[in-house]
Amino acid sequence: MAKCEIIVIGAGAAGLLAAGEAAGQGAKVTLLERMKRPGRKLSITGKGRCNLTNDDPVEEFIFHFGRNGRFLRQAFDRFFSHDLVELLGGLGVPTTVEQGGRIFPESEKALDVVDALTRFAKNAGAVTRTNVRVTQLLTKQKRIVGVHATEDIAADAVIIATGGVSYPATGSSGDGYQLARQVGHTIAPVRPSLVPVETGGNTAQRLQGLSLRNVAAKVLVEGKKKAEEFGEMLFTHFGLSGPIILRLSRVMVDALQDKKNVTVSIDLKPALSEEKLDARLLRDIEEHGKRQSHTFVKGLLPGKLLPVCMDLTNIAPDKPANQLTAAERMRLRTWLKDFRFEITGHRPWEEAIITAGGVSTKEIDPRTMASRLVEGLYFAGEVIDIDGSTGGYNLQAAFSTGWLAGHAAGAKA
Ligand SMILES: Cc1cc2nc3c(=O)[nH]c(=O)nc-3n(C[C@H](O)[C@H](O)[C@H](O)COP(=O)(O)OP(=O)(O)OC[C@H]3O[C@@H](n4cnc5c(N)ncnc54)[C@H](O)[C@@H]3O)c2cc1C
Repeated sequence: MAKCEIIVIGAGAAGLLAAGEAAGQGAKVTLLERMKRPGRKLSITGKGRCNLTNDDPVEEFIFHFGRNGRFLRQAFDRFFSHDLVELLGGLGVPTTVEQGGRIFPESEKALDVVDALTRFAKNAGAVTRTNVRVTQLLTKQKRIVGVHATEDIAADAVIIATGGVSYPATGSSGDGYQLARQVGHTIAPVRPSLVPVETGGNTAQRLQGLSLRNVAAKVLVEGKKKAEEFGEMLFTHFGLSGPIILRLSRVMVDALQDKKNVTVSIDLKPALSEEKLDARLLRDIEEHGKRQSHTFVKGLLPGKLLPVCMDLTNIAPDKPANQLTAAERMRLRTWLKDFRFEITGHRPWEEAIITAGGVSTKEIDPRTMASRLVEGLYFAGEVIDIDGSTGGYNLQAAFSTGWLAGHAAGAKA
């Protein structure tokens, strides 16, 4: 067998950092990538602009990962957003902070980030081999001795940085889970996250293309509120999408998998309580009562919502506003605060931004990213059971865990 010290499987965000950091410490590193080029997914992040990270403090970051966020604490302590910004700056990719603390390359080109990190790994001495798909880990008495691709390749340490299952055309189709399972690791059930959802009926289809800002959306599971987000959403030909729906999708996907009833309730007037909204409707009716209901309601809503509002509240569009009954006014008020959609499913892996689930964090040492089961094995990035919200959190988690795995493995080389 050809001799090699550290093998990194997967040249994505996590693998590039791991390879560069390990090689920088003097280890002999080979980075194996199954696709033609490194960083396919990285190159399409942030709609091609790459929302690299966020300038939130560590505690906020951890909060954005929910249940398993604490696992990332030590990786963030060792390599965080300011370290990433400094690293990229040194590689000729200055960054800029946008709304919500989101950090992008100044050039707004994700490809600049891919090129810079590929150079980072190469300059440190890592050798990248593309079109090489690893199919097996080689172990001896619970110790890593190499990997199998088209041939056996010997190694003292292996870092699995193969990503999740989402957007499989970018190369991440779940291989890391098989590799980890082969050597005894537990895989928390994987499911799509940050994914659009499908709705019953044809209301969303009627509103296709409409984007709403400053609305609140609640997820109800079996009628009980489970999560809420405020911001922007979008209606599509299949249902609901946009930032707040993607952020709520984790709760919805889990409930759908448990065969529970899932509803999204949209509050079109989140700044007004029901009482204040009613007072506003009464005042408007006093001022513009002669107008037909559809003209009257126009002042409250984007035009595309108007026919849907008239249909769902069962109000005759040509009825003068001052002739609306108390029951009709109540139906209008209720609808404005509680516009409901039955959620019937979610979009497939091809449309999911990230994968929830993965290699159990209980079996990984958070100080080094080393496997607790197999000596010489490390994990980095989305293959681990961690998933965060939108805003640059997921890439930073991949960079931080990649850096830490590379650092720990390299230190032993
Ligand atoms: C459309 C889209 C937009 C996104 N935008 C953002 C954003 O703006 N900000 C953000 O924070 N996050 C974003 N994300 C999420 C982010 O891209 C991922 O969380 C991140 O790329 C995970 O990094 P990774 O290195 O773990 O995996 P990946 O980037 O998926 O890299 C894994 C690599 O491993 C390779 N590989 C897999 N199996 C094998 C094998 N058997 N042998 C050899 N190689 C293998 C793959 O080909 C791939 O190159 C986005 C995701 C998508 C899909």
